[in-house]
Amino acid sequence: MKYSELCELYDKLGKTSKRLEKIDILSDFLKKLAKSKGDNEWIYLLRGRVLPDYDSREFGISRQLIIKIISKASGVSSEIVTKDFNKVGDLGEVAESLMAKRRQHTLYSSSLTVEKVFTNLRKIFEMEGKGSVDKKVSLVAELLINANGLEAKYLIRIVLNDLRIGVADSSLREAIAEAFFPSERKEMLARIEEVYDLANDFALVFEAAIKGKKAFDNIEVLPGKAMNVMLPVKVTEISEAFRICGKPAAIEHKYDGFRVVISKSKDGNIKLFTRRLEDVTNQFPDVVSVVEKNIKGESFIVDSEVVGFDPKTKKYKPFESISQRIKRKYHIEKLISELPVEINAFDVIYCNGKSYVNVSFAERRKHLEKMIKEEKMKIRLSYQIITDSEKKALEFYNNALKIGEEGIMIKSLDSVYKPGRRVGHIVKMKPESRDFDLVIVGAMHGTGKRAGWLTSYIVSCKDKKTGKFLEVGMVSSGLKEKESEGTTYEEMTKMLKPLIVSEKGRIVRVKPKIVVSVTYQNIQKSPTYSSGYAMRFPRITAYRPDRNTNDIANLNDIKKEAN
Ligand code: ATP
Repeated sequence: MKYSELCELYDKLGKTSKRLEKIDILSDFLKKLAKSKGDNEWIYLLRGRVLPDYDSREFGISRQLIIKIISKASGVSSEIVTKDFNKVGDLGEVAESLMAKRRQHTLYSSSLTVEKVFTNLRKIFEMEGKGSVDKKVSLVAELLINANGLEAKYLIRIVLNDLRIGVADSSLREAIAEAFFPSERKEMLARIEEVYDLANDFALVFEAAIKGKKAFDNIEVLPGKAMNVMLPVKVTEISEAFRICGKPAAIEHKYDGFRVVISKSKDGNIKLFTRRLEDVTNQFPDVVSVVEKNIKGESFIVDSEVVGFDPKTKKYKPFESISQRIKRKYHIEKLISELPVEINAFDVIYCNGKSYVNVSFAERRKHLEKMIKEEKMKIRLSYQIITDSEKKALEFYNNALKIGEEGIMIKSLDSVYKPGRRVGHIVKMKPESRDFDLVIVGAMHGTGKRAGWLTSYIVSCKDKKTGKFLEVGMVSSGLKEKESEGTTYEEMTKMLKPLIVSEKGRIVRVKPKIVVSVTYQNIQKSPTYSSGYAMRFPRITAYRPDRNTNDIANLNDIKKEAN
């Protein structure tokens, strides 16, 4: 398939904001793709990716490098490319016009194929170590040199992870249902969603859809790759929890750490993944050795919460203090002794070749108890009681709070594991905290002592319906001056700078990527921010490297809290 066909599709998708229209366009293209003798993995390109969703790696090519590549391919100096970029705000468009000019005539038809583009982009992920940057650059430059204007625009946007055509993963699932099961679209969409949540891989879902619905039965969770975890709904009363989960139910402490999916493949390889599908194995060699020693099984997937504690007092620490361990890629040994962690295992999803997804929680827990060998301050099973008494449950809740836990989780004993879903198989109950996870979409340069840093952050929630990010305020307090105390302004600045997409005066706009927990005094209606609401006295309580934009508060959550 010619790469230009894919770019025409991107263009069409970018020109409409209507979801249903997008789905129709995608569905027509999928039928074409199925007939072409291409690779099923090319479907990743429809969302500007070349890897399955369970693999969250990024190209790691900076904007500065892209400017150099465009300059090399177009024969125009880096200064001019930068100037154009400052004017237009999109390196894709800059590449488009420069490459079109270079061709002199617009009718230049390139010979680039989807196969060539996919292969080169995929190779970028194999490049590591010395000289890898140059190799990455040549892989992109080779494509760009052969591209016409439109092809250049989308190539650059893909590499910068900023396709801007508004295709959500949910639209792609709907398009698969429409393309291959037009007469039973609704029920097949539910099935497609179910298997997608298991595999997190559009190529597998696409392949099965082409073969026919029976093929979906062969899609399973497998160790070795990241997966979407099951999430709870929120309740404020024990009676509500029992109503949702049934009686009796299991009740556990809600630990304030971060979710880790522990995965061991048949070859013995242990991997650790966060809730946002990031591989954090290298950051936690201490956890890996505990897993090796204390979890039985040739292969498995165990769901857990990893919690930090003070090495001297052995007291548990809140999430923010161990968030450093997720980010840090160097000097890990030092951090391990300063910020040790304990695994709280609470579920098993796969063991020794068998998926436990469709097994009841009561059975899963029984099996988990057989797998885990507890060891003090290293690994334990989540503390659990089973009860049908509201009084006992409330006592358990109060006790959890007294010893400093965040709250409790109530779990239905008969329910299966639903990856990626906030279904009522588990519920959480904790005191009202007036805090939201939000994404940073902009920032302001500091002045005086804080000059050189980005010190105020514009934060957004998400409109669930449209997928748009809507601002709810500007927050400038909560981060620290010293690294030992938590995330610093300097660190945040370093994370935000590569994400800047435009700059106006002291305000920069950034790609929505960095998630923070923000507490506030109250929320009011306000015309200042695009959500129509503003947080008063907001303060950042934690940087959440384990969360992504799927996890942030939605507009309805904000509305509910407004007074
Ligand atoms: P909030 O937005 O209310 O702060 P949260 O940050 O805790 O919520 P949620 O997704 O609402 O996130 O809560 C579920 C999380 O609780 C899980 O993802 C997991 O990390 C954590 N957790 C702690 N203890 C348990 C447990 N015993 N069983 C399941 N999850 C647990």
